[in-house]
Amino acid sequence: MERVVSLCKRRGFIFQSAEIYGGFRSTYDYGPLGVNLLRNVKNAWWEAMVQRRVDVVGLDAAVLSPPAVWEASGHLSNFTDPLVDCLSCHQRWREDKIDGACPNCGSTEFTEARAFNLLFETHAGPLEDEGTVAYLRPETAQGMFVNFANVLQTTRKRPPFGIAQVGKSFRNEITPQNFVFRTREFEQMEMEYFVPPGEADRWFKYWLDERYRWYTDLGIPTEQLRLRHHDRDELSHYSVATADVEFNFPWGWDELEGIANRSDFDLKAHSAASGEKLEYFDQTGGEPYVPWVIEPAAGATRAMMAFLLSAYREDEVGGEARTVLKLHPRLAPYQVAVLPLSRKEALEGLSNDVLDRLVPHFACDYDVTQSIGKRYRRQDEVGTPWCVTVDFDSLEDRRVTVRDRDSTEQVRLDLDAVAGELSRRMGRL
Ligand code: ATP
Repeated sequence: MERVVSLCKRRGFIFQSAEIYGGFRSTYDYGPLGVNLLRNVKNAWWEAMVQRRVDVVGLDAAVLSPPAVWEASGHLSNFTDPLVDCLSCHQRWREDKIDGACPNCGSTEFTEARAFNLLFETHAGPLEDEGTVAYLRPETAQGMFVNFANVLQTTRKRPPFGIAQVGKSFRNEITPQNFVFRTREFEQMEMEYFVPPGEADRWFKYWLDERYRWYTDLGIPTEQLRLRHHDRDELSHYSVATADVEFNFPWGWDELEGIANRSDFDLKAHSAASGEKLEYFDQTGGEPYVPWVIEPAAGATRAMMAFLLSAYREDEVGGEARTVLKLHPRLAPYQVAVLPLSRKEALEGLSNDVLDRLVPHFACDYDVTQSIGKRYRRQDEVGTPWCVTVDFDSLEDRRVTVRDRDSTEQVRLDLDAVAGELSRRMGRL
């Protein structure tokens, strides 16, 4: 864990927010490499959940919302964690996340637990009175329920169909911890899949399998991933069944994603509170009904951390130690690095020519500093799957060396063939 965190800082994946002012607890900024990785995680999700499916459409709803939404959803009364104070050192903890002893001083004496609401409250407009209260959304899901009728009318979809959204959510977590695993500001990737009530069980199982496979397809080994069904007393206020996709983090198994059968709870609650009909009516016959909802809810920033942890390796190449991120090429911040062997003008000229051919297809880095061995190590460390080296022979024969991150194997290719060969390698994955 410490090594991955240190790599993230050292190589520009993740910085402590407001670091020059001493940092702001539990907030992070994603640097030049982190922003690529995070974007790739979100794109891979969007591609699997929206782009490749005709039964799912996208949405991008507002982060700020009025109290009515959270009143109806149950978050104003139920979105709480049990807060306890240590009677010895007065630190505050989330009761269900400590094992009976204060993680700071070891004392086992605490106050009675109080329900602490995690919603971030703010005021919209210049007056700070009750009428201006607004909330930062703690999940993206409500945006989909509130827009259910809009989407139904404008897309003419019929159940089973889904509405998907990727975006920021905010929770005033009592104890944010474990780097970007639990933060107060984070990104979610959620989909609400609306189904006829009688089909809810079948679709719940379907989405468990789909979502598990998404992580393994992107390189997380099955030994590090499991599905865990919630016990009855663990279920959220809206859920009739939930299972988590869990990853084996350095501190043990913990949640990556929750897949819940939310029944008709949300549509009924918003319908009752708003007075709008939120149901599906099949024009060709049948009674109108309120669809049930299966929700796969994942964290983008949390998933990014799991991908980093499972990709991190320290191995040896030719008797030399190296650090390598064996990230799936679709997730890697850069897919290709173009490396001219030296700074000679002719080499840089040809390298730029190679770069021009690759940038339309791949995220590319370009590096001319230090020895070629050091540059290979630097690219291994940030997970670049392929390096393309341009040397003096290249000027004569217009062939370049393509080096593979995982096997370190090198092949010589005609520079006209490089883009095609790398696309083939990507396509095979
Ligand atoms: P937990 O029990 O860990 O507090 P949760 O079960 O309340 O999480 P959900 O409401 O199911 O979480 O949110 C869906 C997903 O959003 C989680 O699986 C996680 O990946 C992500 N997520 C939730 N809270 C946070 C957070 N504070 N920081 C980062 N990601 C989060």
